[in-house]
Amino acid sequence: MSDFDYDLFVIGGGSGGVRAARVASATGAKVGLAEEFRMGGTCVIRGCVPKKLMVFASEYQEMFADARAHGWDVKDGAFDWSVFQGRMHAELDRLEAIYRKMLAGSDVTIHDSRATVSGPHDVTLADGKTFSAKHILVATGGRPVLPDMKNADLGITSNDIFNLPELPKKILIVGGGYIASEFACILNGLGVEVTQFYRGAQILRGFDDEARGLVSEMMIEKGVGLHLGTNILELEKRDGGIWVKCTNGSEAMFDQVMFATGRTPNTDGLGLDAVGVDTGRRNEVIVDDYSQTKVPSIYAIGDVTNRVQLTPVAIREGMAFVETVFKGNPTKVDHDLIPSAIFTQPEMGTVGLSEEDAREKEPIEIYATSFRPMQTSFAGRPDRVLMKLVVSQATRKVLGCHIVSPHAGEMIQLAGIAIKMGANKEQFDQTCAVHPTISEELVTMRDPVRTA
Ligand code: NDP
Repeated sequence: MSDFDYDLFVIGGGSGGVRAARVASATGAKVGLAEEFRMGGTCVIRGCVPKKLMVFASEYQEMFADARAHGWDVKDGAFDWSVFQGRMHAELDRLEAIYRKMLAGSDVTIHDSRATVSGPHDVTLADGKTFSAKHILVATGGRPVLPDMKNADLGITSNDIFNLPELPKKILIVGGGYIASEFACILNGLGVEVTQFYRGAQILRGFDDEARGLVSEMMIEKGVGLHLGTNILELEKRDGGIWVKCTNGSEAMFDQVMFATGRTPNTDGLGLDAVGVDTGRRNEVIVDDYSQTKVPSIYAIGDVTNRVQLTPVAIREGMAFVETVFKGNPTKVDHDLIPSAIFTQPEMGTVGLSEEDAREKEPIEIYATSFRPMQTSFAGRPDRVLMKLVVSQATRKVLGCHIVSPHAGEMIQLAGIAIKMGANKEQFDQTCAVHPTISEELVTMRDPVRTA
């Protein structure tokens, strides 16, 4: 019989917390989980899932013209935000209910409350009730941050976009990361006039230059008003919307301004400092390779640790935590070669090193091809795709793969398996092409376009 109320208390019902709670419970542990908002966290409620549904909705705009080019007698229709939004929220409700059902079915006790850490083995709920737990897992995720400027609160963030009563006619999106670039494309596809400001020289900093260059070129081609090296200087509420003065001196009015200027870990007021858990400069919980904090009974996973802010990574961190703590099998989380996709239009899929990072490490060969794919080319659209491999000259290993193409996310998942297995360029070449596809180019690029 344990001296504690719970063997594990999880704070946060997002992807990482829910998975850890369920898997720990399956080992026979007594598990409690507190969530102050809705079960499912950022991914399900205000992130990946509703975002992807909006991506799907926004892609239909081009399909009408494509369908006509393929012989269909269809007319451009109007997009009804309220119809889509109702269906989207119904889907989120359905998914949240599944999360709750799965937790209950796994014998995890759900506390619909905010919880804070009140001791190395204690958690206190909003109503003052305190529970003791042998282990505490902090999985509280993160939230969008507004930039530190006057009137920034006139702007919205990605949290608000799913609940807008109506779509703006004209929006300014600030930022050049995943969220800014994805929503610029989504809203553009839904018929909103989109302006995007990014303070740096090219959006999607850190990704392969050639790949992000093509994404930004295509975004502009499709109608996003992308301004590089540009930021907001001032903003004010005025009749008819939000007045913005830019760093380049120009002024404009927008119905909405959306800040996608980064996210911060949810550690405020959690009681971590008081119990001796270290947090970093970005408010993240500091953990070791096993997700353990400086307080041995307290662990943290997912966005709150600011390692790699991706749902599948949080889930893997949760699984490794359970393996380590409840199965007696110390397991480090493997953060190497994580494939990911950016759901811009065109989509980008990436795994491994960019050309720029790889050439700093060792001599490389670049295999790349860019072309107009059959379907959109037939429809008369100028869309281009990019397939690119970064290869080590010494070992012939494929160090990185970068795809800009429809369904790049689906493709990179599969390329990621080969690259994680350590496949070399010759093994890619030995694989027979699937014809006619876009992805066959990954196994048919015979000669390097350059070495570095
Ligand atoms: P990012 O950190 O990717 O991007 C933030 C952007 O805002 C950068 O372009 C940054 O510029 C800019 N910025 C920061 N501060 C300011 C400021 N004061 N004024 C103007 N611009 C500013 O954050 P996101 O919020 O886009 O995404 C957070 C994380 O969520 C991502 O890292 C990703 O891991 C995850 N995510 C993943 C998705 C996917 O897998 N498809 C989708 C959405 C999110 P600079 O580059 O100059 O610093």
